[in-house]
Amino acid sequence: MNDLTSLGASVDGQRFWDDMLDQAKIGALSPRGLRRLALDDNDNRARLWLVDRGRELGCEAYYDAMGNVFLRREGQDPSLAPLLIGSHLDSQPSAGSYDGTLGVLAGLAVLRALHKGEISHQRPVEVVSWTNEEGARFAPGASGSAWFAGQREAASILEAQDDDGSRFADALATCNEQLEAHQVHYRPEPFTPYAFLELHIEQGPVLESMGVPACAVKGIQGVNWYSVTVEGQANHAGTTPEHARRDAFTGAHALITALRGAVAEHDEAVRFTIGKFALEPNATNTIPQQATFSIDLRHPSAAVLASLDERFQRLGAEQWSGCSVELTASSRVAPVEFDSHLVETLDSSVKRYAPHAPQLVSGAFHDAIHLAHRCPTAMMFMPCRAGISHHPDEHIEREDAEVAVRAMADTAGSLLAR
Ligand SMILES: [Zn+2]
Repeated sequence: MNDLTSLGASVDGQRFWDDMLDQAKIGALSPRGLRRLALDDNDNRARLWLVDRGRELGCEAYYDAMGNVFLRREGQDPSLAPLLIGSHLDSQPSAGSYDGTLGVLAGLAVLRALHKGEISHQRPVEVVSWTNEEGARFAPGASGSAWFAGQREAASILEAQDDDGSRFADALATCNEQLEAHQVHYRPEPFTPYAFLELHIEQGPVLESMGVPACAVKGIQGVNWYSVTVEGQANHAGTTPEHARRDAFTGAHALITALRGAVAEHDEAVRFTIGKFALEPNATNTIPQQATFSIDLRHPSAAVLASLDERFQRLGAEQWSGCSVELTASSRVAPVEFDSHLVETLDSSVKRYAPHAPQLVSGAFHDAIHLAHRCPTAMMFMPCRAGISHHPDEHIEREDAEVAVRAMADTAGSLLAR
């Protein structure tokens, strides 16, 4: 029991870091960084590397119908649902080597600690690498975990194409052939894990600014996307008097000011971004006929998103500077609150090492957002320098990573001891 609840003490920090360096070589860019697009040669090699490391620890390796790879350390009672730990090994086109890989190799470090201590446990433990989290080659991302958790149909994932016209289904077939040739067992169907844990870099500045090496994550904020069209009347910029104008830019500007006003009534956790804006005909001496723009709206609370959605729809139904508006919600992803019991377990593990650790809400999506629909799920974050990710300059401190991995191992151990 004691070995399990203090499993973090058995983590081999040097070996964990060597694993990180080894993985960083697969798809390495010069002078630094990583390119490992989902289901490309590098991504497939990263899978096989993981399988080999797991086998050295006496684990069985499995893959499923989406190319998700699992390493299983058997429990004394194989019929129990396994504790699942992991993240993803694919990357953005010009990425760092920590996003995703950290969470998979933290799981591997837990397997190493259990193996080294010859610690037996009732419940099996599995480490997973989810296919195509990034969505950089095949959009949308998190397809492996979304399918596993029953959140997306296989057919819609398989028909996705990359920019070169290659199909997800064909790339997956090549990946699966390699796994088959490597004698990895095929276990097509998803299962229900006992719990899912994911360690990830924060991809934001909070932990670094607090000087904290790790923290528990309470949930993932939701996102609403809108596309907005403001329709005016094109006319001569010099001859049309003010009262006769229906200027789409002026209308869009007034509408955006009103939308911002509605957003400002809520707490500071709200995120409102207009990242795209275009005018037609886009000529210096012509009053704009049409303005189109995007809205990315985020908040951890479903109630706040719903209330802002209603305000946005009402504002979009009005006329602005004589222009008509069409405001459409193009996609909605509901926020997720992680399992409070699991969050507390992670939090108390982290606080053994970092008493002042906060609990954060994730601003970015992760595989855990889908797993939360399937089993008790929670995440842990660790700082990355200046909050930079999706870039070769992504960087973490080895000392912080070791603390995070030990806290993850303590959490896994305490769940296995139950
Ligand atoms: Zn990631």
